[in-house]
Amino acid sequence: MTGQFTVSARHAPLEPHTHVLLALGEREELRFRDVRRFGRMRSCTREELEAAFGRLGPDAQQVTEEQFLSAMRARRGAIKSWLMNQQLLAGLGNIYADESLFVARMHPLAQPGRVSARKARRLFRAVRKVLEHAVKLQGTSFRDYVDIEGRPGNYAQRLRVYQRTGKPCRRCGRPIRRIVIAGRSSHFCPCCQPRPRKIAKQKH
Ligand SMILES: [Zn+2]
Repeated sequence: MTGQFTVSARHAPLEPHTHVLLALGEREELRFRDVRRFGRMRSCTREELEAAFGRLGPDAQQVTEEQFLSAMRARRGAIKSWLMNQQLLAGLGNIYADESLFVARMHPLAQPGRVSARKARRLFRAVRKVLEHAVKLQGTSFRDYVDIEGRPGNYAQRLRVYQRTGKPCRRCGRPIRRIVIAGRSSHFCPCCQPRPRKIAKQKH
């Protein structure tokens, strides 16, 4: 999530929150810094590694439209949770799921299996667009990175809904709302992303 890998000279002072150092030859080391401690490190065999990655769904940046639409079919939970389920689609976290739903004008509690094919295709294109944009800007924010709290630089200013609760929607000007779905914050515009007649049931 917000952790960072950097290649540093071995004599360079350690940044706070550096948890792992791996020697790279005589002079350099790979450092892992993780302010929020979401990262994990595990030593495993090639078979274990393949088994772990084998559980992931298709990469969100490479999935075909057909795979995307067929994975949505007959699914009942909230589309927001569907987007973040790594076994169905790998690579989308909370930020990009919220942003993709906004671009696709889809309510986070819509049910994947009830969404029309036209809207499902719109969501597919939105995911592509948001990820391409984010990857481009993340590169920039990584190079310019200085914030000790791990906040992204340039991408944060481009966010449309994520963590913009109460702020005006960039499309219609109404305030962005926040709801909790499966324990995660979801940010959306109630006007641009209208609530469908049937929404996913929420378990509490
Ligand atoms: Zn709006």
